[in-house]
Parts: sequence; structure tokens; C-alpha cells
Amino acid sequence: MSALIAVDIGGTTMRAASYPTNSLNPIKINKIHRVNSSKPVFQYLLELIQSVWVDSQEVLGLSIASPGPLDPETGFIFNAPNLPGWVDFPLGEKLRDTISVPLFFGNDANLAAFGEWKYGAGVGHSNLIYLTISTGIGGGVICNGNLLTGHKGLAAELGHIIIQPDGPLCSCGKRGHLEAIASGPAIVSYANDQIKNGQPSSLAQIIYFSAVDVANAARNGDELAIKSIERAGETIGLALASFVHIFNPSIIILGGGVTMSGNLLFDPLLQKFRSEIMEPIYSKDLEIVPAKLGDDSGLLGALAFARNQLKIN
Ligand SMILES: [Zn+2]
Repeated sequence: MSALIAVDIGGTTMRAASYPTNSLNPIKINKIHRVNSSKPVFQYLLELIQSVWVDSQEVLGLSIASPGPLDPETGFIFNAPNLPGWVDFPLGEKLRDTISVPLFFGNDANLAAFGEWKYGAGVGHSNLIYLTISTGIGGGVICNGNLLTGHKGLAAELGHIIIQPDGPLCSCGKRGHLEAIASGPAIVSYANDQIKNGQPSSLAQIIYFSAVDVANAARNGDELAIKSIERAGETIGLALASFVHIFNPSIIILGGGVTMSGNLLFDPLLQKFRSEIMEPIYSKDLEIVPAKLGDDSGLLGALAFARNQLKIN
């Protein structure tokens, strides 16, 4: 018997699991909530990997889904803003010092797209766009049956498409990106600005409200909350119109916490999308569906990716 280890490095939660080579049922699974401590992120990661390692079986590979632009060949992280110290961080090199099995690396959203393609909502499709909308907006593209990676493995940063050149500041430091207008924090920030400008809203009673609070207020009929989510939905719809013109997918899979707003988000999204595509043929037979793998998308994506690299089906 042999096994594969998959790891999903999130901003606050890291997940890891060991899997048999022929099953999606983990042998061991664990997660760590990183708290604000002096312990380096890399130390958390090593301990987590250790906790799911299976000594009784040959481990064929370790596959890591990591945030931030990264070099999938070497595992070099260019910048992961939510992980302290992970700027120009040689993750692959450091892991190779302690772990001797083959290592595989991928951007978390790219691998989540890969996972949805192999095991989730995208099974059977050859051209797929995956977008995860939460604290940030990540993307992944399957193009003609292959994960689109680009020249340096940096492709498919769909959340950083420019929507409004002089728009709000994005987490990446540039302005007006999709993420800066339609992510969870962007929805909160827009609602906050409107309240400061004198717009009445039930949200004004909450000192620090979240995107979940905005969604709840919208469900209770709060006009500003509804407008804030509508604005995000319309912006995502606008971006999706551009994406289908570029990639011509047969399915768009939407995941992440912001999609929990349901029709409040999806109705304006679909309306805007339909009004912006240049020919109706782009939306013919196009499915727009929620993601299926939920919190496991990173893990299962990393697993699927390793199996693919090792030619295990
Ligand atoms: Zn950006």
C-alpha cells in the first residue's frame, strides 16, 4: 500500500491529509488554526505534515496548495500577504531539507479548480473557470483539458483583472481589481463608506461588521446591504463576461464564503453577465454552478494534482 499527502495552506487555517493512492477517503486528516504567536508559519506546517504522515505505508509524494503567486516548479513563494514572513519565501527548498519524497506545488485557487474538475462540480468538462470569492478572489482555469499555468506558473489570477483603473485599492497594492470591489472585505468597505457618507443602514449599529453581517442585513431588507451585495454581484458578472470571451468555458464554478449570499449575489451577477456578453452563443450550454468540494477543495485539488503528476488515476 502507498499513500499521498495533501496540504492546503490557508491564511488562518492549514489543512493536511494522507490518502491512499486510490481513494478520496483520508487515512489521517488534521487542521491547525494558526493563532497569533511567535511560532513561524513554516513550523506549523511541518508539525501538521508530521501529524498526518503514515509510517506504515510508502509515501509517494507531498502536494501543497499555497496562497500567493508561486513557482510551481520550485515551490518558491513570491508573496503570500496573509502569511507572515512569506515574501520571497523558498518553501520548496526548506521542505526538501527535511522531507525526501517528491514535492508538488500549486497556487491554492488553481489547485481548487483542478479538484473541482476531477472530483467536484466540473467532472466531464474540458473547459472550466473556477472563481472563489471570499477574503480575496482566486481563480483557476482548465483550458482544453489542461490546467492553465502560463509561462512561469503564474496564470489565472482572475481576481486581479482590472475593472476600474482608479478604483479601490486591492490587497496586491494595485487599484480597481475585481477583488478590491467584490471580495468580502470589499463589500464591507463599500458599506462602511456609504454609512460614513450618511446612508442609513441597520449595519451602522455594529461597530465592526463582516460580509456575513451585510448578507444578513440584506436578507432583512436593509437597502444599503442589498446594494452592497448587488454591486459585488454585478462586478463579478462583468468580469465573468470578460472571462468567457477569453476562455470560452462550458462551466463556471463559483465558490467561497461570499457565494453564501445566494440569490442576493447571483441574480445581479447573472443579469449583468448576460447583458455584457458580446454574442449569445457564449452562454449557450454554459453552466454557472456553485462549487461542490467546499472546505476540502484545496486538499482534494492538491491530491488530484499529485495523482495527475504521478500518473495515478
Ligand atoms: Zn489585485
